[in-house]
Amino acid sequence: MSTPWHVLGAGSLGTLWATRLTRAGLPVRLILRDQARLQAYQAAGGLTLVEHDRSCLHAIPGETCASPAPIHRLLLACKAYDAEAAVASIATRLAPGAELILLQNGLGSQDAVAARVPGARCIAASSTEGAFRDGDWRVVFAGHGYTWLGDAGHPTAPIWLDELAASGIPHEWTTQILTRLWRKLALNCAINPLTVLHNCRNGGLQQHQCEVATLCAELSELLQCCGQPDAAQNLQQEVERVVQATAANYSSMHQDVTQRRRTEIRYLLGHACEAARRHQLVLPHLQQLQLRLKEHLHLRGLPSD
Ligand code: NAP
Repeated sequence: MSTPWHVLGAGSLGTLWATRLTRAGLPVRLILRDQARLQAYQAAGGLTLVEHDRSCLHAIPGETCASPAPIHRLLLACKAYDAEAAVASIATRLAPGAELILLQNGLGSQDAVAARVPGARCIAASSTEGAFRDGDWRVVFAGHGYTWLGDAGHPTAPIWLDELAASGIPHEWTTQILTRLWRKLALNCAINPLTVLHNCRNGGLQQHQCEVATLCAELSELLQCCGQPDAAQNLQQEVERVVQATAANYSSMHQDVTQRRRTEIRYLLGHACEAARRHQLVLPHLQQLQLRLKEHLHLRGLPSD
């Protein structure tokens, strides 16, 4: 019997992973927030994945963090701001040498999680797959992409990568996961906050090229200073390419604000500004952007951290 995949968080990415692993015949257990969520989940009969306009229900067993079974492999699929508390809630269940896969966007939550569970191996992930919930326990697979996985402290790939291959989860093991996470963070900082402040789709930033270019220059300086020169390479060109390629889309941060959901600002722009402060780097446009965004969120009654 292969090692069960415990998936914490039955949201967009958690469902995308749990249903594909299940489809491949692998044992999966969903960890839900509390007894009330578990009952609601059981009443729904499972998780539904909607792909190519076809929906398929998967009756994956659910449990709460209070279940006694030891966890050997955990996919942490909550938002960055929930990650540390979520891991603390299952920490006593982790078997010695347990492996955690951290799907959180941005930077900062991975270190906070690793500090909570020093005996576990933490593998960070950076994904370009896209999914959204169109109802409770229902997720639409909206954008095919790729997931890079890596462990900054240990270059050896884990043995379960072939289970991802068998599940049709496109992935690659990388020894440069921090560079990937920094690059994605920089792209996010250059695009997402401005789409919120200008209330526009990504393509709307073509009207604000100077502002974008100034941010890219400051972000490149920051990446160099943080020992991530590869993540700084041609940043502005890639930002312009992403703005053009995704011109019709609203950024994830714009969607969060429109739908009055908490953003992951602290692990994106917040992390960048904090790193600049630690390196005593003065990046006035980035810092101003953070102030403007926090003010914008505050005025709308949304958390600004
Ligand atoms: P999401 O749809 O909001 O799902 C998060 C899930 O975590 C929710 O179901 C939430 O439960 C659950 N959760 C939070 N704390 C929990 C706890 N203590 N115990 C059990 N469950 C808990 O989020 P998402 O879109 O999948 O995003 C997850 C991460 O992936 C984020 O960092 C995001 O930036 C990143 N990401 C997402 C996408 C995407 O397309 N969605 C793409 C790339 C990267 P409730 O339902 O009870 O609130």
